[in-house]
Amino acid sequence: MKIDTKCVQAGYEPKNGEPRVLPLYQSTTYYYETPEQLAHLFDSPKCGHIYSRISNPTVAAFEEKITALEGGIGAMACSSGQAATLFTVLTVANAGDNIISFSTIYGGTFNLFAVTLKKFGIETRFVTPETPDSEIEKLIDAKTKLIFGETIANPAMTVLDFERCSALAEKHGVLFVVDNTLATPVLVRPLSLGADVVVHSTTKYLDGHAACVGGVIVDGGKFKFLGNPRYQDFYTPDESYHGVVYTEEGGAAAFILKARMQYMRDIGAIMAPFNAYLTNLGTETLHLRMARHSENGLLAAKTLKAHRNVEFVLYPGLEGDKNHALAKKYFSGGYSGMVVFGIKGGRENAVKFIKNLKLFKQVTHIADARSCVLHPASTTHRQLSAEQLAAAGITDGMVRLSCGIEAGEDIAADIISALDNI
Ligand SMILES: *Cc1c(COP(=O)(O)O)cnc(C)c1O
Repeated sequence: MKIDTKCVQAGYEPKNGEPRVLPLYQSTTYYYETPEQLAHLFDSPKCGHIYSRISNPTVAAFEEKITALEGGIGAMACSSGQAATLFTVLTVANAGDNIISFSTIYGGTFNLFAVTLKKFGIETRFVTPETPDSEIEKLIDAKTKLIFGETIANPAMTVLDFERCSALAEKHGVLFVVDNTLATPVLVRPLSLGADVVVHSTTKYLDGHAACVGGVIVDGGKFKFLGNPRYQDFYTPDESYHGVVYTEEGGAAAFILKARMQYMRDIGAIMAPFNAYLTNLGTETLHLRMARHSENGLLAAKTLKAHRNVEFVLYPGLEGDKNHALAKKYFSGGYSGMVVFGIKGGRENAVKFIKNLKLFKQVTHIADARSCVLHPASTTHRQLSAEQLAAAGITDGMVRLSCGIEAGEDIAADIISALDNI
């Protein structure tokens, strides 16, 4: 079926007489008649629910929808996008290991990698899209556990070169992980472009209404862990889980099983059933919303480009944009709703512009139905040093717009009036 149909239908199939709409199972626990039945579930957790820190039927249905949309074989929903990224890293990397990541990524992820993972003993080796393959290859050693990038980087707006990254990852037998938050599976499906694992902040377009913080990890199921010396944890017994061997118990879905049975079990940053219920509802209209977000994004980018007070516009859908060729190769149906631009007159005029806007509201958010705006250098990326800001591709006069699904004319008019009145 087409992605539009999957958005609406995938993940939940009622049986005769059951609710047509995915029910909210607001229960921590699940009843079993005999101790033998429960014991069996502890051996084979895929066969049923035990406790809602591990899994829950509402959350599981949402996970199945996202699995279908991304074309994976399993997913795990988490309490936030940050939790999803952390669990992804921990599932493959232990203290003493390292990961490779582009520095042009979401500020929160950058800090997680640069600061917090370091405290766990995991080193992040940052590269930029300009770093040549030969330099990246020098950073890959026996302890390198994954390569990480964002489909469209927030807010640097660079587009990931899937072909290049997947070739590098494959050559060295390293897991290739992609944060697909800004593109969504409606516009780009990383697993079909060589990625092994996809993460999302579901807080953004999947929810789409700015109602719930959440994240999800999708396992592509194609990566060969078995026999790969980097990933011995996957094919040797896990003593903390009565000797389970993940490649045996999980088969192709070894990654997502290990993520759930080690890290969700022990840390518990699970998506709450109510958030899964709402995010699932949001995802049912994702295909319709992404079309409008993309239409409005392109209109905003063109409007900005034509204005005298604008220094530069970053939008991969714009002809002439540095990332347009890559975006054209990988995107279908639009280029999403986020537009970044540099205003003439730097920080001072960026502040004036934001104050002049009426429809775009200043919030620390992107990718919901309502248009919003933010000045990254003084907010989301405030904790970064000048060098780190430059490496993340952020300048002082840079403004980030997230175009909602309102009428394009109103969005363009708000931008023009705010720029005119600086
Ligand atoms: C927001 C965001 C995150 C973090 O997700 P949370 O749900 O806020 O924890 C990660 N990656 C990208 C690209 C984001 O935009």
